[in-house]
This record gives sequence, structure tokens and C-alpha cells, in this order.
Amino acid sequence: MKVAILSRNAKLYSTRRLKEAGEALGHQVDIIDTMHCYMDITSSKPMVRFKGEPLPQYDAVIPRIGASVTFYGTAVVRQFEMTGSFSVNESVAISRSRDKLRSMQLLSRKGIGLPRTGFAHSPDNIKDLIRNVGGAPLVIKLLEGTQGIGVVLAETNKAAESIIEAFMGISANILVQEFIKEAGGSDIRCFVIGDKVVAAMKRQGKEGEFRSNLHRGGSAEVCRISKEERATAVAAAKAMGLNVCGVDLLRSNRGPVVMEVNSSPGLEGIESATQKDVAGMIYQFIEKNARPNNTRTRGK
Ligand code: ADP
Ligand code: GLU
Repeated sequence: MKVAILSRNAKLYSTRRLKEAGEALGHQVDIIDTMHCYMDITSSKPMVRFKGEPLPQYDAVIPRIGASVTFYGTAVVRQFEMTGSFSVNESVAISRSRDKLRSMQLLSRKGIGLPRTGFAHSPDNIKDLIRNVGGAPLVIKLLEGTQGIGVVLAETNKAAESIIEAFMGISANILVQEFIKEAGGSDIRCFVIGDKVVAAMKRQGKEGEFRSNLHRGGSAEVCRISKEERATAVAAAKAMGLNVCGVDLLRSNRGPVVMEVNSSPGLEGIESATQKDVAGMIYQFIEKNARPNNTRTRGK
């Protein structure tokens, strides 16, 4: 098959591994810089162009769209969909997952376990917002944050009130969330492909840190997950419409709760923690599912 990896950086571990794994399975794999693709939008023959030439017809594309380029990146993925290429994750599903609030609203509709979460625009009733998620200690998150930046733990109601006021004062969008203390500064990354969790790791924040992000100095190790955790991760992926994703869970006293669903999950951490060929498994999924125009995208 002819496969395109849409990535801005051919040197990244995930991009390199995806190319290598695809070629090992006999596919032709091109790495294409998403931000240098441009589009010929016509009704007769939609096309993606690159450096003055039309790109060839790909059987499948693997989008690796960074959070900072979601708007243009998803437009490029959509254009590939218009040409009939199968995208491992659909453009709409990527856009959906990039909005934390929208994601949580959709997950809650499906009854998937979530930390109690509040969202508000105006500072009219901060006390009620705090009460609704069970009071301090609680977590306040910038909607636009990634890699743990913009995630704050407020230990007291007073601290929570002033942090919320400060964020609202600068018109930042925030989520106010119950603090899952019993998670002990760790979370579980479930790597989902299709309807299976193919690998899972536990990430632990460094000493004295409640955030387990590897970028914040956390460490990762392979872990066994329960049946309930497995089912939760798969249900979350399905609710988001993502075929390949990383579902981050916290182990709470009332069972697994989903924190986030990532549509471009990194391969380095999970492959080194689990010693599994996750990149190869993505191709097995493509081999099973890539057919022309196999997309549910209806432009909504
Ligand atoms: P980001 O998307 O920036 O990584 P997250 O929402 O994933 O932000 O939060 C970063 C880390 O903080 C998580 O990996 C987790 O370890 C911790 N964390 C986030 N929310 C909670 C919560 N409600 N309770 C306990 N720990 C949390
Ligand atoms: N039209 C959207 C869809 O593709 C609505 C759901 C959403 O907000 O993601 O399902």
C-alpha cells in the first residue's frame, strides 16, 4: 500500500518508527510535511499539492497533527479524505479531541467515568462552581494547556477562588475539576487501536509532583490494566470517533476516570515501556480498514 505520514518533523521518534514499521511490512511510506501541503479544491478532482506538484493517490494517511497546528492540519487531513484516502483518524475526530471541554461533554453523554468537572465563563458564582466539584483540593486547568502546563492544584477553597478569579480576569478558559488524590500522582496511558487497548503504561510524577507528564520529569513503566479500565479506554476512543489514540485514565476510588484522549499519541514512551511494536500494529489496522472513501466524515 501507499501510505503518507503527515508530520512536520521527520526526525521525531514516532515519525521515524512509523516509516520504519510500514516499510518493514512492505508498504511504500512517504513522510509529508503537513504545513507545506496546499489544496486544490475543485468539484471534479480534489487534490493535495506539495512543492509545485500534485501528490500521488495514497491508500492511507497517518495524521500526526500537533496541537498548535490543529486548524490547518485538520484541513489537510480533510482534503486527503476528499481525495478518497483512508485516514487512520478522521479530521472531525481530531478536531473534536483537541477541545477538552467538547470532549468531556461527549464522553459524559456516553456515561464514561470522568472527574467531576465544572466550566463557567463569568465570575458570578465561583463559590458554587467550587462546591459542585466537591470543594478543595481541586484542579484548575487552562483549556488550551498541554504537557501539564496550565494545570494547577488549589489546596484550599480560598486559593481556588483567587486562582479562578485571576484566570477569568484575563479571559482564559478554564476547567475546574475534582482532584483525584488517590491516583497518587500517577496516571495510566492506554494506547487504543481500533477496539482494543494494545499497550498500557503507568506514568508517575516525580517526587512531590501531582502531574505525571513525562515532560514534567515523570517516569513510565508497563502496567496491567483491569477489565473495567480496558472497557473505559475503548469506550472513550469510540465516543471520540478515534481509531488510534492515547486514553489517559486516573485510578479513582470509584473506578477509572478519563482525563484526556490524545489523537496523536507518542510512540516512544509506550514502545520503550512495553517493548511492543505499536507502530506495526497501526499498519495492521490500516491493512484491515483502508478502502477508498472509507470515512464517516460528512463535513460536520
Ligand atoms: P495536559 O493535557 O496538559 O497533560 P492533564 O489534564 O493531562 O494536562 O494534566 C496533567 C497531569 O496532572 C495528569 O497527567 C495527571 O497526572 C495530573 N492531573 C490532572 N488532572 C487531575 C485530577 N483531576 N486529579 C488528579 N491528578 C490530575
Ligand atoms: N457533527 C459533529 C460530529 O461529527 C458533532 C459532534 C461533536 O461535537 O464532535 O459528530
